[in-house]
Amino acid sequence: MFAERIDFSHEANLTIDELVKRAEVLLPDTDMMILRKCYDFAEKMHAGVKRSSGEPYIIHPLNVAATLIKLKMDIDSIMAGLLHDTVEDCDVAPEDIAKMFGQSVAQIVVGCTKISKIKFKTKEESQAENFRKMVVAMAQDLRVIIVKLSDRMHNMRTLQYMTKEKQQSKAQETLDIYVPLASRLGINSVKADLEDLCLRYIHPDIYYRLAEKIAMKKRERETYIEETLNLVEEKMLEYSVTGEVTGRPKHFFSIYKKMQQRGVDFEQIQDLLAFRILVNNITECYKVLGIIHSAFTPVPGRFKDYIAIPKVNNYQSLHTTVIGPKAERIEIQIRTFEMHEVAERGVAAHWKYKERNKAEPGGKLKWVEELMEFNQSVTSSSEFMDVVKNDLDVGGVFIFTPTGDVKELRYGATPLDFAYAVHTEVGNKTVGAKVNGKMVPLKYRLKSGDTVEILTSKTQTPSKDWLKICKTSRAISKIRQYLMKIERDEHKELGEDILEKALKKFDTSIKSVEKKNEFKALLEKHHYKTLEELFVNIGSNHLPIKDVLVAIPSVNFTETDELDFKEDDKELESFYKKTQKTARKSTSNDNAVIVDGLDDIMVKMGRCCNPIPGDPITGLITRGRGITIHTINCERILEIEKSRHVYVEWNKHYTFSHPVNIKVTTHDKPGILSKISKSINNAGINIRSAIARSMPDQKGNFIFEIEVKDYSELLKTISSIEQMEEVISVSRA
Ligand code: MN
Repeated sequence: MFAERIDFSHEANLTIDELVKRAEVLLPDTDMMILRKCYDFAEKMHAGVKRSSGEPYIIHPLNVAATLIKLKMDIDSIMAGLLHDTVEDCDVAPEDIAKMFGQSVAQIVVGCTKISKIKFKTKEESQAENFRKMVVAMAQDLRVIIVKLSDRMHNMRTLQYMTKEKQQSKAQETLDIYVPLASRLGINSVKADLEDLCLRYIHPDIYYRLAEKIAMKKRERETYIEETLNLVEEKMLEYSVTGEVTGRPKHFFSIYKKMQQRGVDFEQIQDLLAFRILVNNITECYKVLGIIHSAFTPVPGRFKDYIAIPKVNNYQSLHTTVIGPKAERIEIQIRTFEMHEVAERGVAAHWKYKERNKAEPGGKLKWVEELMEFNQSVTSSSEFMDVVKNDLDVGGVFIFTPTGDVKELRYGATPLDFAYAVHTEVGNKTVGAKVNGKMVPLKYRLKSGDTVEILTSKTQTPSKDWLKICKTSRAISKIRQYLMKIERDEHKELGEDILEKALKKFDTSIKSVEKKNEFKALLEKHHYKTLEELFVNIGSNHLPIKDVLVAIPSVNFTETDELDFKEDDKELESFYKKTQKTARKSTSNDNAVIVDGLDDIMVKMGRCCNPIPGDPITGLITRGRGITIHTINCERILEIEKSRHVYVEWNKHYTFSHPVNIKVTTHDKPGILSKISKSINNAGINIRSAIARSMPDQKGNFIFEIEVKDYSELLKTISSIEQMEEVISVSRA
């Protein structure tokens, strides 16, 4: 008897009828109309498209679905297998798939699409490691990885139709990424098959030599296997143990690996055969081990007990190597049928287990919980969970650039962090960000798999508020650096200005004092190296101006001299009063958001965070007052229990305006306020109020409450204000 391995060969004549037949055996309680519906849809979408083999495209999704049935996956996965290329290749909207086939299927398809968009660089090994972590982090649903593995399996099976370069790069990618993933998830059947396929394309010379050698003594070997099988079965019967015994040549890749590890040639590899004994329970496993060790001579140091200590991917088995009847080494694996199921299908075996226990509702699978449950169902090893946790503690989130490059950022990172990760100049000029095509606030928390596009403006500069938004040390230090430089420049300018004005009162100037070399003593006294340093210290109030004047011999300074150089700010005040009178138009918020499942409920915008369309939002049920809307980052909502949260979304047809505060910092020049307000009004934006403050450092600080329709209108307004040369920074307050 030869081992039934799961056969993943390409099936050129596979039809939907045959697929449905197999699915019915696996899932007898499922109505297969839905599977036919998937097929009809995918077939229509891929109609007219051919694979490199010349076959109609639909044969690919059919084979992928068949693989998922072989792995005993659930109906959602099999459906996703049929549909997995429709989003990427046929521009089908995920929403449409969700409508037709359910949210869960759509999510798996979207997950697969995202993973295939990743650009992978083979050269760097660490990149491969990152990729693996990323796939794990991105696939909140483990089924995404299993569908992806099935997809890759079929592509590898039909790789002969590709160009040589494509074959090489696909095989390398498979070996770097998909094989370790399959291994990590314990899906050994897929892992072993992929490995052999990779070997065939990466080292064809070795592969075909192995194939030839193994084929050479085929007849002889088969007889040998059969004799050994009979012998083992006889011995087992003697001790009245029943089970299934199989024997086969080992996978090429495992022979190849052994050759490499031991640095030997094929001729020196002796144990080419592997026998497997499946029994009913663990007691029988050890009993059979005893039988084998008494019938054949065990090779010392080759016994491994993965039943007592399972591998991290849950693999359990007894391994031993013995000297066979013809003095050849043979490797024997002994395990229970249940352990075998886990060894072949790994995590995938779990979905079969799940079918048996239909208690769980459908919907999103938290894969950690799933794994934990799976783990408990087969073993008590806590080691497994530790490793899974480590997998999840991947440095942070993985973010795509619009061109498909990947950046790893720490958890909680924002688009601004991402911008600084791309380039300091990009960070410094950031005005807005789009995540997955939608405008988001700069403080938005990025999730693995997000595609981020940064919008920049030539006139943008970092502000202090950005330090609160950023979570990565790179961004924070770059912003600090910038702010320190700016501050120094400002202090220098201000100090020079103050000094020039002061000297003017004594009918002299910086230039003429310098000519007389009268700064020298002052610089030496304070250990300043340059005049610039003197200006900075005056501007930053570290050195009182009178101390400077006293130290200059040609200036006849007395304590009674008037030293108030501050400009008056009457203009600011008048503007302030004017804007206060601006009509406080009240906008109706009734239709701004749609509350899940509820019509006619009172909705108010949170005053703490003032959400505007485009912000990610959530609703809070308030006692007796309906629902208030907050941005998902609002600190207020963190304090409130989850049960009071309600799902809300922006009403796309809503065109009323929302109040939002913006903070503008300017150089304090005459007329700046009316200039800004004119610019806002010209853009068709209403100003509800404005608060103006003149700062001691000759900066103007204004808070405008304006009304905008949505986030992009806000951004437009902000960027039009910062076009003005007097403006230092503009931000949402
Ligand atoms: Mn595909």
